[in-house]
Amino acid sequence: AEKLLRQSEKLAVLGELSAGVVHEIKNPLTSIKGFLQLMQAGTIETKDYISILNTEIEHIEQIASDLLGFAKPSDEMKKQDLSVLLDSVVFLMNAQSKKHNVELNWAAPQDEYPVLGDESQIKQVFVNLIKNAIEASEEHGTVEIHLSNRDDQVVIQVQDYGCGIPEEMLNHIGDSFFTTKEKGTGLGLMITQKIIHNHHGKINIHSIVNEGTTFSVILPKYY
Ligand code: ADP
Ligand code: MG
Repeated sequence: AEKLLRQSEKLAVLGELSAGVVHEIKNPLTSIKGFLQLMQAGTIETKDYISILNTEIEHIEQIASDLLGFAKPSDEMKKQDLSVLLDSVVFLMNAQSKKHNVELNWAAPQDEYPVLGDESQIKQVFVNLIKNAIEASEEHGTVEIHLSNRDDQVVIQVQDYGCGIPEEMLNHIGDSFFTTKEKGTGLGLMITQKIIHNHHGKINIHSIVNEGTTFSVILPKYY
């Protein structure tokens, strides 16, 4: 029953988003169509515009995969060891961090960090946070991932030394489609917040412009 409830909550979120999603997808489609017409008419040189078409298509693809990861029916809520989950997420993100020349600093701790949750949804949270941290870091930056037990909670921190978030923007972080990136979707943190909320957790942001940002995720410890 709880599984059904969580699924219907997610569908409700998707319903609220649908107008925005259509809008976000229509823009690149309009541009793709426009360029194709110009190419067909011979007005523009095809090879000069291939990369624009590609960028627009990738944007649609990114929106679809962000939403799909969220909408997918979740597994059972099970006991998860966050140290094990983070290990595999960091491994997964290594390719992307190399591409950006960013070092992921993570030492798998010996302790156990048990929480009750859905494996793929929790992984999604850390993929989103680490991806943002990498994207915010200058070339040759470092992203630190830190795990700790605090009384009856588990705390995960993702810290970067990147661009930071201006104070007036903090209120909009996590709003659907809020992005400052040319290729952003503005869906990552919205989805992250929903997932954390469904796991009865909290997320805090500490950020200083040009110094960096720390996202802290606090989840109830599972006994
Ligand atoms: P996207 O990454 O597609 O832009 P997100 O929801 O993941 O969407 O993030 C929304 C916005 O929050 C980003 O565009 C960026 O402006 C800001 N942001 C998120 N994480 C960080 C970070 N670690 N450092 C600086 N800004 C960040
Ligand atoms: Mg993001």
